[in-house]
Amino acid sequence: MLILQIGKDEIFPKTSGHKKCMFLENLINGKRNMKPGFAVDIDNVLAVAEEEVQRIYCKMTGKAWPNELYASAGGLDGSDVDRDLIEQIFEHFHVQSIPSLPVIPGSRVALETLQQQFRIVIITARRPYARPQTLEWLRTHQLPFDELHLTGEKSDVAEGLKFAVDDHPEHVKDYVSQGIQVFLMDQPWNRSYSAPGVTRVANWEQLLQTFH
Ligand SMILES: [Mg+2]
Repeated sequence: MLILQIGKDEIFPKTSGHKKCMFLENLINGKRNMKPGFAVDIDNVLAVAEEEVQRIYCKMTGKAWPNELYASAGGLDGSDVDRDLIEQIFEHFHVQSIPSLPVIPGSRVALETLQQQFRIVIITARRPYARPQTLEWLRTHQLPFDELHLTGEKSDVAEGLKFAVDDHPEHVKDYVSQGIQVFLMDQPWNRSYSAPGVTRVANWEQLLQTFH
């Protein structure tokens, strides 16, 4: 049985010096052998979200969707649409829409394939209170992952990340600034964006092809 001592040795099991060395070595090797991380966005990368945001807008306003705006990619945030309305749309999306969002074709196979080489680190700008429904949605669609982070500051989770895939130019810029190689999932709202270190892909199949 392992017994922890109080005092200078409290972090070690009460074992021989040799075993203490092995304990430390295993800790160090565990860190060294950790697979590199692959950051994966959810909305409009794993989940079809844009149409739902547009549907909510139309339902709340009674107006057709203004084509120059693309909501879940941040278009609404930077627009002159009333802030209260934007809040209501996002609130509705987070509270009610997530369970019914369709999965983007190829997502599961792609994550399963990438997970053989990488830690799948899902990083979404969804609000933290959407964690339970987000976990349930990932489970429902059998999407494998190693970590889930809900944060608007995606580059804060950059440690150990080698690649990232996102559809939002602002998040892509953050990843690039951290030295991460980024795949930009092609969407109408990001077509004017390009940058060194960023590879545009039309779908998951094309992203996987770059690893063959
Ligand atoms: Mg997105």
